[in-house]
Amino acid sequence: MPGGDTRTVTSFSPHPLYVAEASGCRLVDVDGNVYLDLLGNYTSMIHGHAHPEIVAAITAQAARGTGYAAGTEHAVELAELMVDRVPGLDAIRFCNSGTEATLNAIRAARAATGRPGIVKFEGGYHGSHDTVEISVAPPLAAAGGADAPVAVPEEPGIPGSVIDEVSVAPFNDLGATERVVRSARPAAVIVEPLLGATGTIPPLPGFLAGIRSLCDEVGAVLIFDEVISLRLAVGGAEEWSGVRPDLATYGKIIGGGLPVGAFGGRADIMGMYAPPDPVLVQSGTFNANPLTMAAGAAAMRLLDAPAIHRLERMGARFAEGLAKAAVDAGIGAVVTGMGSLWTLHFTPADVVDYRTRAGADPALQRLFHLALLTEGVFSAPRGMFALSTVMTNDDIEEALDGIGRALASM
Ligand code: PMP
Repeated sequence: MPGGDTRTVTSFSPHPLYVAEASGCRLVDVDGNVYLDLLGNYTSMIHGHAHPEIVAAITAQAARGTGYAAGTEHAVELAELMVDRVPGLDAIRFCNSGTEATLNAIRAARAATGRPGIVKFEGGYHGSHDTVEISVAPPLAAAGGADAPVAVPEEPGIPGSVIDEVSVAPFNDLGATERVVRSARPAAVIVEPLLGATGTIPPLPGFLAGIRSLCDEVGAVLIFDEVISLRLAVGGAEEWSGVRPDLATYGKIIGGGLPVGAFGGRADIMGMYAPPDPVLVQSGTFNANPLTMAAGAAAMRLLDAPAIHRLERMGARFAEGLAKAAVDAGIGAVVTGMGSLWTLHFTPADVVDYRTRAGADPALQRLFHLALLTEGVFSAPRGMFALSTVMTNDDIEEALDGIGRALASM
């Protein structure tokens, strides 16, 4: 593994962690240090680690085999759990990552419209395939005007022909988005209802509804990337924003901690996959593998409305304490997020999009992450925190104490 790493986001200097085991919201590294886990594998572990019901589901299925090249009852169960939760989800298909989910949803939108173009938002993260590894965290010098962002590939290796098909709009700026979408007339507009990797930034009132109307106006498919935002309501963003997309993509929590992705939505679009004569194919040796389906079904059963409301209450206390800790330490910072997902940005300015987030101080961000590790708190280097249902109020207070000490030491 080059540099000892096989997942870019998990490596940080000077010494990335290697974890030996985890249970509930505690991680133990290979040196025996214990951490309060406020990252949960980047929001996937919404029920903490090794949750007994999920372990039981995985164990029972493992003893019956882990893959058959055939349908299983577990896949039917998870599909039913999902379409029951999300009213606009007429049909769903499974894959193994959020990356595959957005790849397939975008392809379905292109097939449905016969158009090649895609509009995505600056700072939006949708996985690691070529079409979406564009303008995720572009250098501002190369990114063009704030209301007319340029499509900037994240790395070399993405063909110019792919970049040419992607138009980039500024999140939370409906006027600029209108100009971009009207001129691009794309197959799809893909949006994270809550801008995740850029800092759990909520949409401003009317922004998602505005994108919905625009898509209707130009005949584009609206794709909600719910890989992170599903956890914020039983029905995901469709419920908490009141806006129904044409397609949505899922991942992380719906696999109960195992590798997963899914996409689905309107019956007419998803019907293109239906046997016996599918227009679209979506193969994958491990699609809907029974271990993931069993774990995912257990996880989604556990994530009912009371569990989400409890997370929201703990989240409100956490967000309030996080903001206060920065004030107490005399550090200019703002908190953004919703429900159980929060980010501390080291900037005094309002954070509403990629550009305002890019004004945050990267040196303080890095110091904060390392100081938190010293305090026994595991978080995302980018300043994101994700709560889990196994946490207690005491865990939240313990986290806030650690955060307070970390900020004071800075
Ligand atoms: N979409 C969003 C919104 C994500 O946050 C992520 C992962 N962080 C992905 C897609 C890609 O998911 P995966 O890592 O499973 O490929």
